[in-house]
Amino acid sequence: MICNEHYPKDFQEFLAQFKSEDDCWNYIFEIRWPNGFVCPKCGDNNKYWLTELKLIHCSSCGHQASVTGGTIFHGTKHKISTPGVYKVIIYKR
Ligand SMILES: [Zn+2]
Repeated sequence: MICNEHYPKDFQEFLAQFKSEDDCWNYIFEIRWPNGFVCPKCGDNNKYWLTELKLIHCSSCGHQASVTGGTIFHGTKHKISTPGVYKVIIYKR
């Protein structure tokens, strides 16, 4: 599921690649849905928009998916942080 081409070789390279929260968010998104977003509820794909809180709103069924759902960020109040994303990537590997 992971796109190895963009997989950072080590933590230094990782830090260079993920400078902002958006970078982290986009990367998790790509890991979870490498072929584009698929709604976990209705299975529809590529019909969605992002809310202000960066929830992925399925325009077919109205389900709002979090990119961090099912990861260590899920259910926590922690913001997506660079070291945190690194842990997610290691975990998913
Ligand atoms: Zn849906």
